[in-house]
Amino acid sequence: MVLQDLGRRINAAVTDLTRSQTLDEKAFDGMIKEISNALIAADVNIKLVSQLRKSIKASVKFNELPPHANKKRIIQKAVFDALVDIVNPHQKPYEPKKGKSNVIMFVGLQGNGKTTTCTKLARWYQARGYKTCLVCADTFRAGAFDQLKQNAIKAKIPYYGSLTQTDPVVVAREGVEKFKKERFEIIIIDTSGRHHQDEALFAEMVEIQGAISPHQTIMVLDASVGQAAESQARAFKEASDFGAIIITKTDSAAVGGGAISAVAATHTPIVFIGTGEHLLDMEKFNPQSFVSKLLGMGDMQGLVEHVQSLKLDQKETFKNIQEGKFSVRDMRDQLANIMKMGPLSKMAGMIPGLSNVMGQMNDDEGSMKLKRMMIICDSMTAKELDSDGKIFVEQPTRITRVARGSGTSVREVEELLSQTQMMAGMAKKMGGNMKKMQAAQKNP
Ligand code: GDP
Repeated sequence: MVLQDLGRRINAAVTDLTRSQTLDEKAFDGMIKEISNALIAADVNIKLVSQLRKSIKASVKFNELPPHANKKRIIQKAVFDALVDIVNPHQKPYEPKKGKSNVIMFVGLQGNGKTTTCTKLARWYQARGYKTCLVCADTFRAGAFDQLKQNAIKAKIPYYGSLTQTDPVVVAREGVEKFKKERFEIIIIDTSGRHHQDEALFAEMVEIQGAISPHQTIMVLDASVGQAAESQARAFKEASDFGAIIITKTDSAAVGGGAISAVAATHTPIVFIGTGEHLLDMEKFNPQSFVSKLLGMGDMQGLVEHVQSLKLDQKETFKNIQEGKFSVRDMRDQLANIMKMGPLSKMAGMIPGLSNVMGQMNDDEGSMKLKRMMIICDSMTAKELDSDGKIFVEQPTRITRVARGSGTSVREVEELLSQTQMMAGMAKKMGGNMKKMQAAQKNP
């Protein structure tokens, strides 16, 4: 994905500079130039890039840095903040209210992923306890209603549309009225797109808006549109004054800079990003998380939210870690959780360092590996599972027995045990630190 390539280039520029022998102002300017080139190549608007250059230069007054300052940290932070500033519109999106009917209308050109995203968003709210439904007011594209219906059925979301009514304004109004009466809390309206921006589309959009008075209008923008994204967003903003953007297809081979420029040009927040074709492939957008993921620093905040939304059973693991313990059984529970979390490639971007561990493995190979690790655990006795793995070092015949029993190899069993021991070591450290913190709180 090219967004990742952009991140890699920016990261490499910062790392090269901070590793170089001569960390002088000339090298610093060179780094800013390389970052600017990478952004321009990724279709970020030139004006924004020059703004970023100025802001990095202004926040790192290179000649005034004290001799012992941690230059690397200062430069990294300046680059990070400047990138966050580009994608941060400094505007808060609409927050749906519980117990009320929140009407959300989607706009965007055909093929950008509007219909798919309507269902993703409906599912997202449904999973968070809102009474949610979908209305298909796209009477322009043959098959649009059918597509929305299929998606809605799959996600078990009530829907409304018509195969005979050709006026989208009527369908939108009827659908919204029906669902409001039935006290739905989130009513999402999919509207028509066109291949190109045209007057008829904009006139229709304005009419639907007038008929249903949405609380929020969201524009769907394909990450791969490139430079055209900015003018597209401006035109839609003028006609529909949308209050939020969802960028789709950030997973595909696409240049995402155009979409970033669109956000900056319209001062409108990105609320979610689409990360795949499936219903669950959507992430909440947060400027800091986005940039840290872009730069390969891992998105722990996104991960925590993702894990919480899955309502995974953490069993005793967290408690054990707090106490400085970690057993093979904890390892097994966590493996089971990782398998529930979704495609491994997606998770890898969220956990610092995991993309390196995954190496060249694709999702299928990765989950096969996890499955084999689980089978290994399942071939152990309760005593072995509850140990931190040292018992295998003391009695190595246990390793051969487990390998034979699970149909795997001695090497694979050893690998699992060494992972567990590494985790146990980390748990011990963390548990110790926690105890120290607790003691400090008791005796300040
Ligand atoms: P619409 O014409 O704007 O309603 O677009 P659709 O919802 O029909 O989507 C067009 C195509 O884009 C479909 O094949 C979707 O599966 C695909 N699509 C939508 N969102 C994403 C995404 O985030 N990632 C990827 N890879 N494909 C997507």
